[in-house]
Amino acid sequence: QEAFAACQAAQPALNAFTAFDEEKTMAMAKAADARLARGEGGLLEGVPLAIKDLFAVEGVDTSASSNILKGFKPTYESTVTSKLWDAGAVFVAKTSMDEFAMGSSNETSNTGPVVNPWKAKDSNESLTPGGSSGGSAAAVAADLCFGATGTDTGGSIRQPASFTGTVGVKGTYGRTSRWGVVAFASSLDHPGPFAKTVKDSALLLQAMSGHDPKDSTSLPNDVPDFAAAVGQSVKGLKIGVPKEYRVDGMPAEIDEVWQKGIDWLKAAGCEIVDISLPHTKYALPAYYIVAPAEASSNLARYDGMRYGNRVEGKDLVDTYEKTRAAGFGHEVQRRIMIGTYVLSAGYYDAYYLRAQKVRTRILQDFHDAFDKVDAILTPAAPSAAFGLGTKSDDPIAMYLNDVFTVTANLAGVPAMSVPAGLDKSGLPLGLQVITRALDEGTMFKVGAAIE
Ligand code: GLN
Repeated sequence: QEAFAACQAAQPALNAFTAFDEEKTMAMAKAADARLARGEGGLLEGVPLAIKDLFAVEGVDTSASSNILKGFKPTYESTVTSKLWDAGAVFVAKTSMDEFAMGSSNETSNTGPVVNPWKAKDSNESLTPGGSSGGSAAAVAADLCFGATGTDTGGSIRQPASFTGTVGVKGTYGRTSRWGVVAFASSLDHPGPFAKTVKDSALLLQAMSGHDPKDSTSLPNDVPDFAAAVGQSVKGLKIGVPKEYRVDGMPAEIDEVWQKGIDWLKAAGCEIVDISLPHTKYALPAYYIVAPAEASSNLARYDGMRYGNRVEGKDLVDTYEKTRAAGFGHEVQRRIMIGTYVLSAGYYDAYYLRAQKVRTRILQDFHDAFDKVDAILTPAAPSAAFGLGTKSDDPIAMYLNDVFTVTANLAGVPAMSVPAGLDKSGLPLGLQVITRALDEGTMFKVGAAIE
């Protein structure tokens, strides 16, 4: 009840939420109380969670922050949220996001930008919480709930976590089911949690994970006890520091926080190893071909016929055109155009196929690196949170936010952002820990050593 009231009270200032359902929240809370009274609590019994508007929650508006789905109430529950409810968690609100998860600032949401609860010292400027999972990050950062769900296709959990001083995790590709999550780029989409601590994030990822026959790319592997890794010694672990992540124009403070992380891990007994991930510089261009290509295909379903909103035209094609013109915002339209272009006959080999080859090289880079090291440490984002409106007219500047995060999506390896300190204006900065596929345990161990 307190979490629900806190979310509602914070909504005018933060604009982090897109839907509430008081009846549902109170019914779930009551049921959790009853189970606890009978001594039957699950892993997350009674824990209030906010849910990114990309996850289908039965009977609650699920719009992907897009006008084309405005008012859509699914008749089913996503696998991830149903696992969370099975573990005893309580739904508190749906959270705002960049439309269809395309963006890095939460400014393309059809309900307007989310405001980061953090402000720079001596400034009243409103800052972005990052994106696309900005509402979830803001809700956790402002202590409105204990955790939230996000999705990470190119950094949409880790970059907002870095901007808001929260912990943000994506597991191995396929650990968490995509069933019931509105699709952006299916081979890159990773549902995952936001939390206040590494331990909480491990518990949340554990509850969200597991094989799902309804998602053909869901992993069949058993889910280990992720939380058990938290607090274990990192002594003797080899930590790779990739030179390609020292990008031009990166603020000195990012470099400093990175060095601080290296020093902490060294002091904890880790061995620091300089490594190279030589194809890193091609990751962003490859991502911005593969992701729009898959998006253009996934978003073809919003034609005004099956579900979602419709604008009637004079015939079928006119109806499609009017529906999609009114329903999709500019960034989504840009992605659809890029995607259909790179998939079109004549351009497919030059763009899409080449990007897929680059993707294989990036995966190979990680395989080679993990022959030598147990985990890789990098900054999570190339800057601290920036002002609302400062990059919204410049798509390239916006895409550059993802320079450190897209590689782990292209390779499908686990990665997390852990709060590591403040810059000189008092804004949080995160460090990223990346490990081999299926080795989330080492990621949580190293993450907890930095925290
Ligand atoms: N910012 C990236 C994009 O716009 C990543 C988004 C995401 O991870 N969903 O595509």
